[in-house]
Amino acid sequence: MKQEKKYYLNLLEKEKEKILKNLLYAREVIEKGEKGIPTHIADHGTDEFEKDLEVGLSNSERKILEEIDLAIKKIKEGTYGKCDNCKQPISKARLKALPYARFCIKCQTEREKSGKK
Ligand SMILES: [Zn+2]
Repeated sequence: MKQEKKYYLNLLEKEKEKILKNLLYAREVIEKGEKGIPTHIADHGTDEFEKDLEVGLSNSERKILEEIDLAIKKIKEGTYGKCDNCKQPISKARLKALPYARFCIKCQTEREKSGKK
């Protein structure tokens, strides 16, 4: 179980990093017309430039980042992997594909049908 937690934590952190790097890359290209990510940021933690970047986040990206943070919090609290709606465990296959999933497939489908997100 401990190893499993580590595994998902790692997945979530990678996912977060990917989003932030994409954002950073996009911003660099827009602002300076340069390509690539500055090396000093690759070496750095994400916290510092994270705040700075939030301004440029689109709503969907902001939402994903929020969900990733929420999932990381749940791992630490030991409630990770359960559906927010029916409290049943979310399948491992789903978590591997979407580590920040908040709902099981059944509830997700129902929410989408009713127009909620
Ligand atoms: Zn559910």
